[in-house]
Amino acid sequence: MSEKPRVLLHVCCAPCAVHPARALADEGYAVTGLFYNPNIHPAAEYLRRRDALRSFAARLGLASVIFKDRGYEPREWMRRVAFREENRCFFCYQMRLEKTAFIARAGGYDFFSSTLLYSRRQKHETIAALGRDLDGGGKARFLYRDFREGWSEGVETSKRLGIYRQDYCGCLLSEAERRLPPGR
Ligand code: SF4
Repeated sequence: MSEKPRVLLHVCCAPCAVHPARALADEGYAVTGLFYNPNIHPAAEYLRRRDALRSFAARLGLASVIFKDRGYEPREWMRRVAFREENRCFFCYQMRLEKTAFIARAGGYDFFSSTLLYSRRQKHETIAALGRDLDGGGKARFLYRDFREGWSEGVETSKRLGIYRQDYCGCLLSEAERRLPPGR
């Protein structure tokens, strides 16, 4: 019996993992999660999202998850976005996908991907382009899927399971915009 191809799936949060994890498993991949989200603000929110994934990983079909708590480093993201905050999402995606590709190569995975490709609120084409740039060929190829097609199902399932669903994207700036929208 041939072994399943292995995918390292970067997970931004548990609700966004519902559909991608199942879709990849249904396609016959062995899926490992990677929780690496260095700029979630504040740290208490980072821990809440991490713990939500820890609680639900098995039910989402993730046999294992790598938690990179030592990679929680908002300063690195702050340095990258300083004076170009309008492009902050690009650098946020870049950090997360770079780390995912690196770990996938080091760990001998066949592919890497990200639940960022599930969100209708993210810049989908930018994420896909970054992933393709990080595809070095050979091992750890970038696995592109348009997971947005499972958006509604993922939302419904995460609500039914009672998974913690945050109400802002993640960084300090996104929280401020949520609580104190421009033009207030
Ligand atoms: S808004 Fe979301 S994707 Fe953009 S930088 Fe902030 S956390 Fe990252």
